[in-house]
Amino acid sequence: MSGFDLSKVIRPHVLALKPYSSARDEYSGHEGVFLDANENPLGSVGGGNYNRYPDPYQQEIKKKLAIIKGVQPQQIFLGNGSDEAIDLLIRAFCEPKEEKILITPPTYGMYRVSADVNLVEVKEVPLSPDFNLQVDEILKELDELTKLVFLCSPNNPTGNSLRKADVEKVLEKAKGVVVVDEAYIDFSAEESYITLLDRYPNLVVMQTFSKAWGLAGLRLGMAFASPELIGFINKIKPPYNINQLTQEKALESLGQYTSQKKMVEEILKERKGLAEELKSLPTVRKIYPSDANFLLVKIDDATEVYNKLVSKHVIVRNRSSVQLCADCLRITVGSKSENNELLKSLRELF
Ligand SMILES: *Cc1c(COP(=O)(O)O)cnc(C)c1O
Repeated sequence: MSGFDLSKVIRPHVLALKPYSSARDEYSGHEGVFLDANENPLGSVGGGNYNRYPDPYQQEIKKKLAIIKGVQPQQIFLGNGSDEAIDLLIRAFCEPKEEKILITPPTYGMYRVSADVNLVEVKEVPLSPDFNLQVDEILKELDELTKLVFLCSPNNPTGNSLRKADVEKVLEKAKGVVVVDEAYIDFSAEESYITLLDRYPNLVVMQTFSKAWGLAGLRLGMAFASPELIGFINKIKPPYNINQLTQEKALESLGQYTSQKKMVEEILKERKGLAEELKSLPTVRKIYPSDANFLLVKIDDATEVYNKLVSKHVIVRNRSSVQLCADCLRITVGSKSENNELLKSLRELF
């Protein structure tokens, strides 16, 4: 990656912005009588210790996470879900009605929604029919106004990982920032793009606590990038974007990384078993290879199957109307008993 100058890619007013300075920014010591933040000194209604504002930069979590991920704590941003990271990236880099993001459908829906909310134009370069990047088409679209490219690997809803050589070509040629969303990386045998952060100053890698960690209810997403880029995101984030309860729970969970690995192993075993069982059903046309915790399944009359499953109280995601996904259902890998329920219902339909 040559000639990437972050200060020229970030929006000028973000470069110049003076961020909100919280009480905890101005005095960060832990000992003392704290009469600086208008907190309630008596405690919390309902019990627990939530009367103090949380650490605006979640330093304890980042210290632990940095070790697990092999980065520096200053290379980490934590958001209220990956959704917040997506929104802040768009707001940091794209001038509304002027600059653009590029996405590669079929992919995760939030990139477009977040761009739409921010009045930022979305360019689409669809994946090829085998769900890989059309690199030449993407490179043709990468002009000075295309500030962000969102790639998702393993991709939702297709389940496959993108080819690393393709992603690197985009990283090399992009004039703006390339975001690789790795929400499903823990279910994949592929190496994380985090290892390429030192080589590409225009790379942002996103991960989440919502999938492998089983903490979707917490709303905690991660973004990894250069300290300079993370610095700009920190400038524009809401000061206390990660609440105290979430910070405590995340810290506790990070201390139990082995349980996460065990859960992932079990889900991978279920994914294999579920794929084999689904393959044996007569109307299933194709099970796409998956590096994620779901299977994309091409099936005759997908919408009818979807509706019949709903009537049996088994809910999957109907992706039939999504480009390149005609007659496809996206099925999350459940527990053994949930998967058996699904298979039983499907067999009853045929
Ligand atoms: C599930 C998912 C996420 C997670 O989003 P959160 O806001 O962190 O829950 C991010 N990206 C993709 C592609 C996903 O499928």
